[in-house]
Amino acid sequence: MTETIFAQNAYLSLPSRAIVGLALALGAAGLARRAGSLERGGGGFVAATVCGTLCVIGGWSWSALLILYFGAATALSRFREEEKGARTRGVVSKGGERDAAQVVANGGIFSLAAALTAILPAPYIAWGAVGALAAASADTWATEVGVWLGGRPRSIITGTNVRPGESGGVTFAGLMGSVAGAGWVALAAMLLGFQRGLGIASMVAGFGGAIVDSVVGATIQERRRCDVCDEPTEQALHLCGSATRRVGGIAWVNNDVVNLISTFAGFLLGLFVYYIVGRSGSWGGWWGEGGGAIG
Ligand SMILES: [Zn+2]
Repeated sequence: MTETIFAQNAYLSLPSRAIVGLALALGAAGLARRAGSLERGGGGFVAATVCGTLCVIGGWSWSALLILYFGAATALSRFREEEKGARTRGVVSKGGERDAAQVVANGGIFSLAAALTAILPAPYIAWGAVGALAAASADTWATEVGVWLGGRPRSIITGTNVRPGESGGVTFAGLMGSVAGAGWVALAAMLLGFQRGLGIASMVAGFGGAIVDSVVGATIQERRRCDVCDEPTEQALHLCGSATRRVGGIAWVNNDVVNLISTFAGFLLGLFVYYIVGRSGSWGGWWGEGGGAIG
């Protein structure tokens, strides 16, 4: 079976795919901006258009997977938005509208890998790509479900209580959310006809990536404090109007950098699962063997 995800839109030449991809991605990103899931400023729109174009270059299934991930993440961010916003007000630095850095941190590695499969159709790249997207999905779902259902977050490192929305804090609901977010990508991959083993890769990479996200968030992520309110925050300018100061972590390691690290961890975990189960025929096999079509 060579009519796989790598060849699905191969009736188009690579430059044609890029042009068709750009047109479709512009439309999709325009809809997302109108729906309020990309920031008005334009950076998020440009980044989403680039990611969408790269996915179409890779193949239709990659684009469908990106849309299914993004659609669910947007719906979850919108769900009980005010209630969740009230819980994390003054702590988190960004709202539901995604800017360029957030789009790249969540979808960049996935989209690059998807496009890479057009030139280098190697199965391990597909497994890494799905792993990276599963990690992004798990992290988004963990945050949204965790903040919505509440519970007192504890630091994943020290076990002490932290404020809702504060990086490195985990709750049982959040952990379940990360499993559900990884499961969503696994389900979407199955429905799109990707190799069965990619479901396992999604679960492992998604949950593992979310754990990496929390550990990195609790350790090296920049920590700031508002002295006026005497509160921890991620905001450079606190909602009270005063400038905050850095009290720990590495200065440039913000939420987006942490997300990028966790999606990269998801990519590596996807590769790892491929080398454990993907190469054995029962869960996928090498390309062209055992009917391991993923498109
Ligand atoms: Zn303040």
